Amino acid sequence: MDTPLLSSGRDRDRIDLTPVAAADAGGCASGSTLREAAELAGKSEVLARYDADYPKGPHDQPQSMCPAFGSLRVGLRMRRTATILSGSACCVYGLTFTSHFYGAKRTVGYVPFSSETLVTGKLFEDIRDAVHQIADPELYDTVIVTNLCVPTASGVPLQLLPKEINGVRIIGIDVPGFGIPTHAEAKDVLAGAMLNYARKEAEQGPVAAPKERPDRPTITLLGEMFPADPPGIGLMLEPLGLAAGPVVPTREWRELYSALDCAAVAAIHPFYTASVREFEAAGRTVVGSAPVGRDGTAAWLDAIGKACGIAQDKVDASKNKFLPAISAALAAKPIAGRITVSGYEGSELLVARLLIESGAEVPYVGTACPRTVWSDPDREWLEAHGCRVQYRASLEQDIAAIAEYGPDLAIGTTPVVQYAKQKAIPALYFTNLISARPLMGPAGAGSLAMVVNAALANQHRFDTMKAFFEGVGTGPTAGVWETTPVDRPEFKAKYAAKRIAAAKAEEHIGT
Ligand code: SF4
Repeated sequence: MDTPLLSSGRDRDRIDLTPVAAADAGGCASGSTLREAAELAGKSEVLARYDADYPKGPHDQPQSMCPAFGSLRVGLRMRRTATILSGSACCVYGLTFTSHFYGAKRTVGYVPFSSETLVTGKLFEDIRDAVHQIADPELYDTVIVTNLCVPTASGVPLQLLPKEINGVRIIGIDVPGFGIPTHAEAKDVLAGAMLNYARKEAEQGPVAAPKERPDRPTITLLGEMFPADPPGIGLMLEPLGLAAGPVVPTREWRELYSALDCAAVAAIHPFYTASVREFEAAGRTVVGSAPVGRDGTAAWLDAIGKACGIAQDKVDASKNKFLPAISAALAAKPIAGRITVSGYEGSELLVARLLIESGAEVPYVGTACPRTVWSDPDREWLEAHGCRVQYRASLEQDIAAIAEYGPDLAIGTTPVVQYAKQKAIPALYFTNLISARPLMGPAGAGSLAMVVNAALANQHRFDTMKAFFEGVGTGPTAGVWETTPVDRPEFKAKYAAKRIAAAKAEEHIGT
């Protein structure tokens, strides 16, 4: 709309949009504004805890999906668990769409709000009513309520919800994009909150027994993994007189008690800081890294044996049985080529170890997750094998690594894969193609070779496609055309001159 000219000599009314305010205008991009609001609204304690648990920098904000997707997915995978979201409709739409895209097959509850219900506190009452309505012990063990960005920024006090209704546990968590950097860490927010609840229940008296209880002490496995991995880990633990315990995040509530009741915890994924806090409060030792490849398995078995006070001859019995099998599997399926790895799952360093032990050169691993002590053994091993490890990697860093190292194959997130393919470099999507395979012990050794070698062998196809499509869809040829587009730089120059002249004229009117 044109601004009317002033003839009175009065200054024009202007709103000065500073660059920061303009950049922060709305939705996921308004992190700093929402954070300030949340602190004023009484959420500074929870935000300070998130800052300590999920250290930021150099890359602070998610460049992938909404972090709340992580905790939503953990809740949706649990039996007899209801999930309710409180947030902007657009956020809830995106989250429910994505969860159903990934096969949730479960209802996601939603408590909508308006400006009025938000500022008057009625939203909290609406959430409490919804929780009372849904807390049916016939159907549910637990109801999980999640505050997304706007309700967190408004200080909606989920901690004031009843802890339990008719025997159904009520858990309220804040999962704002401006407090939790990745969806991986949001999984830990919910897993940690549930472990905290279960630990306090166990401290107060007897709790439900697990469906099956191994006759040996167990190792709880922290981090989602391929379904064949826990039984494989169990076989390797057998000579130590141990068994594989539950995988956290668990699939049902009573598994939380068994998870806490373990000999030690294996932090297979290294970013579960809140969950580790609960295990340590329960007096459990936490062991980092994972049994991947020959070196990784040997070191991990030693660490588990030490944490559980197992005699070295028993640890050696397992190593003598499984390490030759791992070496043989790696040798049978070698990988040759230079590969860059990036992702946001938390298992990136483990995958890189396996690739290197399979014969690949891996000069770069980028992970969206932060550096923690539980991935230190993997980082040290990788660095000793010529690999640069970038924690909290940004998309720009992942792409720069491809430009720097010129890999034969790029394993990464969707935009990384897209960039590599545009450069005619074969690429594999980490989440769907790499995470969906066993990684541990003999079953994991060599499991990546088929998909990685097939991708490496596709280079000639990329070369053919690049030669065929070269120049199509870029610069003046972008778009849909009925005839072959012709570049007209003289038109661009003419219109650019007109635009500059119009802008100068407007500037003149405004003074
Ligand atoms: S809830 Fe998720 S999608 Fe919504 S504004 Fe926050 S980070 Fe973005």
